[in-house]
Amino acid sequence: MKLPHPRIGGLFDSPVRPGSGWPGDPASRRTAVAETPAEVTTLAAAARSIEQVDAEVSMCRACPRLVQWREEVAVVKRKSYCDQPYWGRPAPGFGSASPRVLVVGLAPAAHGANRTGRVFTGDRSGDFLFGSLHRSGLANQQTCTDSADGLALNDVRVAAAVRCAPPGNAPTPAERSTCAPWLDAEWRLIGAEVRVMVALGGFAWQAALALIRRAGGSVGTPAPKFGHGTVATLTTPNGPVQLLGCYHPSQQNTFTGRLTPAMMDDIFATALAISAR
Ligand code: SF4
Repeated sequence: MKLPHPRIGGLFDSPVRPGSGWPGDPASRRTAVAETPAEVTTLAAAARSIEQVDAEVSMCRACPRLVQWREEVAVVKRKSYCDQPYWGRPAPGFGSASPRVLVVGLAPAAHGANRTGRVFTGDRSGDFLFGSLHRSGLANQQTCTDSADGLALNDVRVAAAVRCAPPGNAPTPAERSTCAPWLDAEWRLIGAEVRVMVALGGFAWQAALALIRRAGGSVGTPAPKFGHGTVATLTTPNGPVQLLGCYHPSQQNTFTGRLTPAMMDDIFATALAISAR
């Protein structure tokens, strides 16, 4: 199936083939493809640059259930997007390659990042997040409609703990474990500069704690519990990192007022203040 891209008028298959010109596609036809959990571990450990991690993440096929789901969604589509091509591949991290602030989310949305190819882009959660990053001076614009919209981040990187859209927004424990080496590799390559991690929701909080443990750091005993506005000091081989909790900008939270724009702005104001010390 080939449909015109809404921004640049190209023709793409769903899922998108590497090298076909999708804006921001980090992969080429030579990018290695992980087909099993063991291959994720091997490729992630061998990656030598954040660009390589992004490219290999975007081609990964190690979780059969998630591959089947993301590609099925990319073909069936939501009615309101039926005239658009879908990315249908994993969503790599996005933003600065040497950030002071790392934002960690759960997983791409089926009709958000799985459609646009960029994490938190193309849905209301992304509008909420990038709107706050823009008001905080960490993004050049509040618009985040697709991968060709010109969005750029300053001093911040956004990554998901699981890189493929899961059915029901619920990856299994095995899928979380399989995907973890990609976040490990990202941390190994960009973590030295990170002073603050912002965890969007309880799962991201747990993923951040697990990441620091795997990286040889310490989270303390007992492990800090997630809360909106909670700050926990983690110890890493590169020095202390502050973990800052924020309610996830899901519609469930934003429509009910549990998370307001001002609340998220306060989180990033705190993150900036900590990272400037
Ligand atoms: S969830 Fe992660 S490990 Fe699993 S297929 Fe997607 S990118 Fe690969």
